[in-house]
Amino acid sequence: MTHVRQQRGLNAIKAYVPGKPIDEVQREYGLKNVIKLASNENPLGPSPKALAVMKESLSRVNSYPDAQNHNLLKALAEHLGIRPEQLTVGNGADGLIMQTCLAYLDEQSEVIVSQSSFPVYDIYTHVMRAALVKIPLRNFGLDLEAMLQAISDKTKLIFVCNPNNPTGTIVTAAEVEAFMNRVPKHVLVIYDEAYYELVDSPDYPDTLRYIRDGCTNIMIIRTFSKIYGLAGIRLGYAVAQPEILAPLNRVKEPFSVNLLAQAAGVAALEDQAFLEKTVASNHAGRIYLYGEFERLGLPYINSHTNFVLVRIGPQATAVQEMLLNKGVIVRPCTGYDLPLFLRITVGSQTQNVRFIEALESTLQDLGRLHSD
Ligand SMILES: *Cc1c(COP(=O)(O)O)cnc(C)c1O
Repeated sequence: MTHVRQQRGLNAIKAYVPGKPIDEVQREYGLKNVIKLASNENPLGPSPKALAVMKESLSRVNSYPDAQNHNLLKALAEHLGIRPEQLTVGNGADGLIMQTCLAYLDEQSEVIVSQSSFPVYDIYTHVMRAALVKIPLRNFGLDLEAMLQAISDKTKLIFVCNPNNPTGTIVTAAEVEAFMNRVPKHVLVIYDEAYYELVDSPDYPDTLRYIRDGCTNIMIIRTFSKIYGLAGIRLGYAVAQPEILAPLNRVKEPFSVNLLAQAAGVAALEDQAFLEKTVASNHAGRIYLYGEFERLGLPYINSHTNFVLVRIGPQATAVQEMLLNKGVIVRPCTGYDLPLFLRITVGSQTQNVRFIEALESTLQDLGRLHSD
């Protein structure tokens, strides 16, 4: 027994549960060929250009990385058409969410999030002992109107996950415009656009326009983890006015973006071909999954991302475990308050077919499919 007490906020926190790693499932279930469709990773691997510069950079890892992130910020600013001072980079989008909460929250603060959204917002809100205000989904999407109604004098941050993880839905440019017009200026709205490059809807907002127009209560967070296939090196960026970013830089780890990540980020931005290949592969895979879910009689939510939320029903947990036995890792959604659903990452075509075969035989084992 220890007499050392943990920080008072921590009891409220459920630690983030990542997708099960492949080697763990191989060991536990005695399986060789395991596929993971649980963490929205890029099935095509990392950007080849990023991989090449990381190999070249390996011999320099005895040095600290550039604390100013000069080359990366310059490349990003050009890529996005904004000024380098309006940008900061971090140890994944997760690192930037953490920095934002550390920089802006205290015990008196309230944070508005959607129920069934990305859980990292909740974690750092609790770390800062701020109050979390959770707004229920509306038609599986974020309810911006209800979020607006929930604003109080204590509200400091609103997290808008767009597209939303785990539902895959978007809020539109028109909704965002109406929302931003009415959010009071003391409230910072954070658009988490982790899947931004995968969205092809004409209704999706161009949030960077707000930055260029001088809006002072908006921040956009994006990542290299998904589209560029670089989840393992941890690189994300945030866009906001310099005075909004300054507090984030005060709380950051001294070298929050490592040397390999800085080099990889610059190269990935030049890898347009890989980005397009990923978008095309994801699009085809998503359509394949939709067709198969329809054939199996499973309702799903139309997605703007590289994952699909599918309704299994009360047997969702059983199905997820039976899939594990067959070497297919998918994401349960009990932690997202959607216990009847599973979240399936769109994989390569081989992986998608393997998943559907495993799912179909699982449903058969449960007596849920009847052959004519
Ligand atoms: C994957 C994901 C992130 C995390 O991105 P990292 O850069 O890997 O930390 C953030 N937000 C959402 C909505 C995500 O799905």
